[in-house]
Amino acid sequence: MIKGYTEKQWGRSATELPAFIIKRVPFRFVYDNNYFNDAYQGIPKGGYNVLIDRLLDGVEVRLEEDYFVDREKWDAVADKILFTGCIDEFYNYQCGQLEYRSLRFEHKEYDVEDYQGNAVINFTEATVPYTRAIEHKHFEGISSPSTIVTYEYPDSFEKGKEPYYPVNDEKNSKIFHDYIQLANQQQKVLFGGRLGRYTYADMDDTVAAALELCQKEFFD
Ligand SMILES: Cc1cc2nc3c(=O)[nH]c(=O)nc-3n(C[C@H](O)[C@H](O)[C@H](O)COP(=O)(O)OP(=O)(O)OC[C@H]3O[C@@H](n4cnc5c(N)ncnc54)[C@H](O)[C@@H]3O)c2cc1C
Repeated sequence: MIKGYTEKQWGRSATELPAFIIKRVPFRFVYDNNYFNDAYQGIPKGGYNVLIDRLLDGVEVRLEEDYFVDREKWDAVADKILFTGCIDEFYNYQCGQLEYRSLRFEHKEYDVEDYQGNAVINFTEATVPYTRAIEHKHFEGISSPSTIVTYEYPDSFEKGKEPYYPVNDEKNSKIFHDYIQLANQQQKVLFGGRLGRYTYADMDDTVAAALELCQKEFFD
């Protein structure tokens, strides 16, 4: 179950992968088939957009803006900047390029009410090219005559594609360490999130790290 899935996820033979990857897989000796161990798990009612819209109510938001298109403009907007993009791109790749694994999503509409009976099915076999099939309507129990299923394919990363998973091997960890040294030499820009900290993080980790950063920066 683990070998085929892990090899297609990372596009490498298991013998070339760092051992710590296996530590992310929860081992249980009970009939609990949840991926996460958290006591409370769920999706916000109405989805994440509704939650985020409410959190940002009254806050000025500008979307579809790339920081790198006009750095000077964005640097002048505030005394402090929290940068959540790629730290290597921020420093113009001067310490080297960080490696990522990417994903490709393929969406299909089926003319049936219920295609797979639940929100997510993981495909662990090496022979199936995708890792997951996600049938969105089951997250909220929506009723509709047809259904949309998204297939998630692991993909190599190059510039122009979305960087999803950091490759936290020794080589990349060293490059990231060099960027953190540069980041520590200035105070205006804070680096946060999975790309700014070059880390594999779930949402709860990301929120906890953001609160910790705020505490350290503004209250300690
Ligand atoms: C397929 C998949 C499934 C996942 N499933 C789960 C799950 O079930 N549970 C869970 O807890 N976590 C899950 N995660 C992880 C979750 O998505 C991350 O923990 C979370 O999104 C990290 O938040 P972030 O703010 O660090 O990064 P992001 O959500 O990626 O936010 C970074 C933001 O910075 C912006 N940005 C980047 N570069 C620039 C730039 N140059 N200029 C302007 N803006 C820029 C981006 O547009 C983006 O809005 C999943 C991740 C993936 C890829």
